[in-house]
This record gives sequence, C-alpha cells and structure tokens, in this order.
Amino acid sequence: MTLRDLPKVELHLHLEGAAPPAFIRGLAREKNIDLSGIFDEDGGYVFRNFEHFLSVYEAACEPLKSAEDFYRLTTAVLEETASHGVIYAETFISPDFCGGGDVAAWRDYLDAMAQAAKDCETSHGITLKGIVTCIRHEGPEQAKRAAKCAVETMGDFLTGYGMAGAEMMHRPADFAYSFDMAREAGLSLTCHAGEWGGPDMVTETLDALKVARIGHGINAHRDADLVKRLADEGIVLEVCPGSNVVLKAVDGWASHPIAKLRDAGVPVTISTDDPPFFHTTMTAEYDALSKTFGWGADDFLDLNKVAINAAFCDEATRADILKRLEQA
Ligand SMILES: [Zn+2]
Repeated sequence: MTLRDLPKVELHLHLEGAAPPAFIRGLAREKNIDLSGIFDEDGGYVFRNFEHFLSVYEAACEPLKSAEDFYRLTTAVLEETASHGVIYAETFISPDFCGGGDVAAWRDYLDAMAQAAKDCETSHGITLKGIVTCIRHEGPEQAKRAAKCAVETMGDFLTGYGMAGAEMMHRPADFAYSFDMAREAGLSLTCHAGEWGGPDMVTETLDALKVARIGHGINAHRDADLVKRLADEGIVLEVCPGSNVVLKAVDGWASHPIAKLRDAGVPVTISTDDPPFFHTTMTAEYDALSKTFGWGADDFLDLNKVAINAAFCDEATRADILKRLEQA
C-alpha cells in the first residue's frame, strides 16, 4: 500500500484555506471578481509571510458569497482530501465568512456544508465534522458572536468550537467567555497556540480556555514541564509540519519538533492546515515525515489512532473509522 492509499485522519483543516486554487479562480470568473494578484504564474496561491498569507487568504474568500458557494467549496475540498486517503476529517468553518456572524444566515451556510459532507460521505467514503472557529485578530466580541452561532446550530455535523487567526493578538483569557459558552453547550474545544507564541501561550490557553486539543502547539517543546503536562493530561497537538516549514515557524523538516514531542509521550497528529497555500497534501506530509524521521506504516497507524481517539465525533463514527484504519 502506498502512502497515498493509507487511510488517514485529519483534524486541522481550514475549509477556505483548503480551497483548490482552480476552484476559487473559476468562482471568481463566474462573479467577475479580479483575484489575479493572489496567484503565481503556475496558478498557485502566492504570499510573502504570515501576515501577507492572512490577507491573501481573505482575498481568496471573496468569491465565496452564498450557501451554494459553500456547498461547492466543501465538495471540492472533500474530493481533493479523499483523493489522499483521508477517511475522516474535521474542518474549521467561520460564521465571519458566512453571513457575517448572523445566526439565521449562518444556519443556511452550515446546512449547505453539512449536506455536501453527507453527499461526499456517500460518494467518496470520507466523513467530515465541522468546528466553528473564531478569528483571534477580530477580537473577543466577534468571538462571542461566533460562539453563539456554534451553540445555536451544533449537532451531528457541527461538533466543536475553536480559535484561529493571528496568535500574538489578545491573550487567551480574553476569549474565556466564548469558550465557556461553547463548553457548557457541549461543544468540544481546540485552539491555535504555540505556532508563533512560546510555551507560555500554550499554558495560558490550557488554563484559560480548557481545550482538549491545541492547534500546532509545536513551541511547547521548549519547556520540559509543559511537555510533561501535555503527555500526562493527554492534550492532543494538531501538528501541521508542512505549514510550519513553509511559514518558517521552524527552520526545516529536520529540526521540526514533532518527533521529539512524540518520543516524549505527547499525543501528536498530522494535518495540512491550508494545503494549497503551503503546496502540501496529506500524502506529501507523510512522505516528508517518512523521509525525515523514518516513520513507516505502523507509525502512521499509531498517529491516526491518536487522531481518531481525539476526534470531535460520536462514538459510533469513532468505532467505524478505527475499524477501517485497523483493517487496512
Ligand atoms: Zn490552522
């Protein structure tokens, strides 16, 4: 079995960030929106650094206006993801991009995404769950609106709440109200931290927001006490190595701390983050990890089991995916 065929679980995938460039270009053309500045000559997304990446990302979202657009986006992303062996994925979705934080508008978008997920489960054998994600640099008030949207529409498809965006803006405790609201409603929680911030940001996030998983969390490796805490408490890291390499959050594959964290007993998982932006796929991630750390099929099975055990899904889905992983 090739690395591409290996069944995989992916927990950290931004829906708009996973939009195939050809899909966005086609949609922009239909709507007469000029996005030529965000693509290179090969048709891929182009940006200079993390801040510029955020603005290119927002520009790429511009043609995504209606619930129907999000049905098509979800379908395009799932077809691409499933083609790399992913059988279960979770995706970050944002009411800010879907109706501007209004609950009624959000519900239409969410229904469209859930329907696309259902259709792709039948056609491509991939299960998708959604995590409403507030955008950190938009501030705590907007995060509350996102949390309210999540709480009002949670269910079979929408199972989590989280936070992405510029990590160094605001402190985790500023968002405690939103995370408390989501937790009390029964949503599972994750938050980006320790990608740009140090171990202190990861610690503060755990203490203030009481999340089960951390997005990235790679800088935790600089603090032995925190590494021990992550291992002891079973805090799962959604590691996106290719993203870290391209955005220069690490110096390169060889110095990526994922193997060191795993060896220390921290539950780590593998995801692509915003794959076309970082010129990556799940196959490319596995390939690079295999070449860099010598990981083979047994290691990947182990990592995928960690991921599905940390997935924000119902127990029947978890058991089903676990069985498919083990049978492969
Ligand atoms: Zn991310």
